[in-house]
Amino acid sequence: MTIQSDTTVQSETTSAIDSATRSDADAIAVRPRTSVLSALAARITGEVHGPGDPGYDEARSGFNLLAEQRPAVIAVPVNRFDVVEAVRFAADEGLRVAIQATGHGPGAAADGALLINTSAMTDVTVDPIARTATVGAGAKWGPVLAQASAHGLAPLLGSTTDVGVVGYTLGGGFGWLGRKHGLSSDAVRSFDLVTPDGNPLRVSATSHPDIFWALRGGGAGSIGVVTGVVIDLYPVSTVYAGNLFYPADDATEILRRFGEWAPQQSEDLTSSVCLMNFPPLDAVPEPLRGRSFTLIRGCWAGDLDEGRATIDQWREWKAPEIDMWSEMPFAAADAISMDPTDPMPAMVTTEWLDTLPDEVIDILTTRVQPKPGSMPLVLFAELRHGGGAVAHGAADSPNDLGRNGTFLLEMASVVPDPHVGLAIESALRLTREALAPYVTGAAYLNFVEGEDKTARSASSFSDGNRRRLAAIKAALDPGNRFCHGITLA
Ligand SMILES: Cc1cc2nc3c(=O)[nH]c(=O)nc-3n(C[C@H](O)[C@H](O)[C@H](O)COP(=O)(O)OP(=O)(O)OC[C@H]3O[C@@H](n4cnc5c(N)ncnc54)[C@H](O)[C@@H]3O)c2cc1C
Repeated sequence: MTIQSDTTVQSETTSAIDSATRSDADAIAVRPRTSVLSALAARITGEVHGPGDPGYDEARSGFNLLAEQRPAVIAVPVNRFDVVEAVRFAADEGLRVAIQATGHGPGAAADGALLINTSAMTDVTVDPIARTATVGAGAKWGPVLAQASAHGLAPLLGSTTDVGVVGYTLGGGFGWLGRKHGLSSDAVRSFDLVTPDGNPLRVSATSHPDIFWALRGGGAGSIGVVTGVVIDLYPVSTVYAGNLFYPADDATEILRRFGEWAPQQSEDLTSSVCLMNFPPLDAVPEPLRGRSFTLIRGCWAGDLDEGRATIDQWREWKAPEIDMWSEMPFAAADAISMDPTDPMPAMVTTEWLDTLPDEVIDILTTRVQPKPGSMPLVLFAELRHGGGAVAHGAADSPNDLGRNGTFLLEMASVVPDPHVGLAIESALRLTREALAPYVTGAAYLNFVEGEDKTARSASSFSDGNRRRLAAIKAALDPGNRFCHGITLA
């Protein structure tokens, strides 16, 4: 496959590159550290950090404090030209390249690599006429949602506005409008990409369509650095959304009921059932602190009276202890999942299931709910109802298997110290092993992290898609230097 650069972007970039200082191509290992860092620093406007520099520790850490990484060098680009220069520098030096925006979804540790930290590239522009948002590589969902909702529009963000738009979208992106409008990757009109050899391209359905296809669900960290994205916005303003809090002891009955109820619902509803163990922390509101619940959670993005009537089916079945479903502006969507926003050490894992037989319900309740008097090892186990537009888009997506199933299980834990970490790691692993006979075997790639992302990437792609992705990867990155995200090789 031959990759041609986009001519407009190329000429824009070439002039910037011509005026920049080129480093020689000596191997990084035999050059004094300061000369390598200063060679890169001379080429970009943004900051460059090496181990021990002020700013190095901040630039290498992100939301998940468990992800420990020691890059050889960190570039913090402020624009697309910086990214081109940093990627060309890495190619010249034979460096592996890792990318981080917020650190919500770390891949394999970037030890010894060039880490491109995009967190300074936060431009967001909303075009209410075209119903699109143009978003920089480091922007989070918060400003996109705020700007879009001022025009009665919404993006396909996930459970929190704190996650990065580009990383979330490259891995799929399943949020509270998912069953109605699809994954965030379905909403992409174009990506601005810098390929592993430092070539700037604009890719879309009509320009480099193969690369466009690969990026929409298989692209996180694997075939270059995305510097910006244009995404569709949807006419969603007021929704009916929230949580019903039932006692933890009702979990078996509720999981059984949800397994039958959810598949009968309209695509206007994206919902989940969640076994939640709220930690005993001051940040958790008093009525929830240190307590376990079974939640019926979701968002109805259709006729509001129909939405209320749909959730009334649960209220009529059994009155919840706390009822937080109500009409709300979609701009307040963070209130649905109530995700934490402060960085924390966390572990996450996932499986897809097509049904919820009693065996699965038994495994989840016995392993996730704490025994009396003991601390829970799993913070929550949430089963999101998939299908609808989440599944409709699978045929055109690289991650066809990884977005196709009826219930998407996500289990997450907070790891207060390394000793508890071993117990948590084993609790999550043993729960997955017990569930093995009942799962589809495909991973939803946004819910796997670290080495697990490398190990489980292939399960998300059907055989044909895996071969197509491998060919795209081989053409763009034959040396596999972009090896810290989703694995395509
Ligand atoms: C609290 C929380 C809630 C979440 N909720 C949801 C949810 O509802 N739905 C859902 O689908 N996911 C959800 N996620 C998962 C999240 O979408 C993924 O972790 C995603 O990868 C985060 O992207 P990021 O850019 O914020 O994180 P980062 O860790 O900075 O990036 C994640 C990965 O994306 C790649 N990447 C990032 N930027 C670029 C770029 N510019 N070019 C190429 N590759 C890049 C890198 O390989 C990187 O390892 C959640 C995660 C957390 C922690």
